[in-house]
Amino acid sequence: MQKAARQWLDSLVSMFFPQVCGVCGRSLVEGEKVLCSHCNLKMSRTNFHLNPNNELASRLVCHAPICRVASLYYYVREDPYSKLIHNLKYNRQRQIGIELAKMLAKEISPSAFFNGINLMLPVPMHWWKEIRRGYNQSRIIAEGIAEVTGIEIGDNLIASRSHATQTRKGSYGRWLNAEGIYAVKNADDLMNKHILVIDDVITTGSTIIHCCEAIADAVPSAKISVLSLATTRLG
Ligand SMILES: [Zn+2]
Repeated sequence: MQKAARQWLDSLVSMFFPQVCGVCGRSLVEGEKVLCSHCNLKMSRTNFHLNPNNELASRLVCHAPICRVASLYYYVREDPYSKLIHNLKYNRQRQIGIELAKMLAKEISPSAFFNGINLMLPVPMHWWKEIRRGYNQSRIIAEGIAEVTGIEIGDNLIASRSHATQTRKGSYGRWLNAEGIYAVKNADDLMNKHILVIDDVITTGSTIIHCCEAIADAVPSAKISVLSLATTRLG
């Protein structure tokens, strides 16, 4: 849907269904999007963009050649903030992805995190899963970031086969499960580009690492960075 049409539809919907905070459920006031000001302030931000050697970078860089890593907030299962990701993924609340991504992009832009980045590639989803979910949430996040930064979104990263849902597997099971799923198409288009891989939440890191490995194997000249809405704490 075109941006203007989506904005029009959103304002129409909010006239009939007042928006509430995705964390505490309070009604949102003018200027608040998805989160109320209180929950926004209390959100456990990672601030990874301020520290190039942050814990997530350390977790990922030993597996794949990754330049920069950033993430908006720490994801804790059972924490009320986990509802944001859950509703984005499973309850078709795409506005959560758009608004949190815009917030993330605005917050990290001054750090020069986006400098030199040519293209965003969302972590892909198998086509059948995408049809059932209604959209790929990583693509929605990329669209929100694009609204702020103007960085183009590519479709070069593909899920070449389906895999069982990650949530029921242990760490090692998830690791094996993600292996060989991701592939790159039209690799020549990515030569010498700095690519930002976009994910919703990084847990074990297996998905993002396998995506980055697929890009690095197909396009050795590409630089790769990673951005997610949320990440789990180490340990
Ligand atoms: Zn709230």
